Amino acid sequence: MKPIQMVDLQSQYYRIKSDLDNALLNVIDSAAFINGPEVKAFQAELEQYLDIKHVIPCANGTDALQIALMALNLKEGDEVITADFTFAATVEVIHLLKLKSVLVDVDYDTFTMDTEKLRAAITPKTKAIIPVHIFGQSSNMEEILKIVKEHNLYVIEDNAQAIGSEFKFADGTVKKSGSMGIIGTTSFFPSKNLGCYGDGGALFTNDDELAHKIRGIVNHGMYERYYHDEIGVNSRLDSLQATVLRKKLPFLDSYNEARRKAADYYDEAFANHPNILTPKRADYSSHVFHQYTLRITNGQRNDLQKFLGTKEIPAMIYYPVALRKQKAYFQDSDPKDFVNTDRLLDEVISLPMHTELEEEQLKYITDSVLEFFK
Ligand SMILES: *Cc1c(COP(=O)(O)O)cnc(C)c1O
Repeated sequence: MKPIQMVDLQSQYYRIKSDLDNALLNVIDSAAFINGPEVKAFQAELEQYLDIKHVIPCANGTDALQIALMALNLKEGDEVITADFTFAATVEVIHLLKLKSVLVDVDYDTFTMDTEKLRAAITPKTKAIIPVHIFGQSSNMEEILKIVKEHNLYVIEDNAQAIGSEFKFADGTVKKSGSMGIIGTTSFFPSKNLGCYGDGGALFTNDDELAHKIRGIVNHGMYERYYHDEIGVNSRLDSLQATVLRKKLPFLDSYNEARRKAADYYDEAFANHPNILTPKRADYSSHVFHQYTLRITNGQRNDLQKFLGTKEIPAMIYYPVALRKQKAYFQDSDPKDFVNTDRLLDEVISLPMHTELEEEQLKYITDSVLEFFK
């Protein structure tokens, strides 16, 4: 059996190696490293895939979130609501821009923002909401879009973990995650569902004016060379990364399908187990399983992780600490407002999840987890 890894990027690379190697050598030969034709081509291809008017590539997913907030002209002290249970980047950029973060609890079953708690957190100072489509499925965008309409707020979708997932509205309309808010953002960090071989990110929008503004912000606020109309940043996707992404984008749906198949295997093995809850698949969103995250309900999560370690099975805790308790963003909060987040911090464990998992490996992993509880 091949050694089990949390993510196996090397085996995935070998499947496209010769084609990709040639394409990368051609870019090096062309010496068009920044803003070359590969970046423009990737941008157009991703626009088509997401069915969105504008994709603006940038240097990473954290920059994408920061640039989105900059583009919306938020002012110091404006409140931005996001989830307490996620990766820090989302709340980090809110603080970097001197905005005020307001963290809300998540739903216990889907791990995404609890929309009732979101409603309760809105104040006259609220300007934007950043739902995070965590672990590979969309937040409840139908409800969130209703709320932002009622209160006239912006919604930025943090789609770093869910690219390729689809949201189904009650009227039957289907949209790709990241294409429903005023702006969507993503990351092409290597281990993401669509990853490059370094750092990369992008913003998506259907709004022409915003797209224009964002294209300036990513490039030092320049709309005409050496004329700076905005305070911007230097945040670019380079041509080599765009080439990797162009070669991988046509496989994104099959990559996500491979992840779903691995998730099906896990689901079946752990169904109805008294101490294990499998991740819920919401009926409004397809799941692209950026992570496959179990909840261990008998208090033995840490022991399970150690046990799996002795069997050479990596398993990770995403995420061990609530954002509201991190020193950098500490918020005095009432624990009863965060019961789900706090429970999840003690219960979650993510199993190996990638496009190259083999049945033999899945069997060994599931057998080992079940053995722990015997
Ligand atoms: C990975 C990730 C980011 C940040 O992306 P980088 O490209 O690493 O900057 C932001 N939000 C979420 C939810 C992520 O998973």
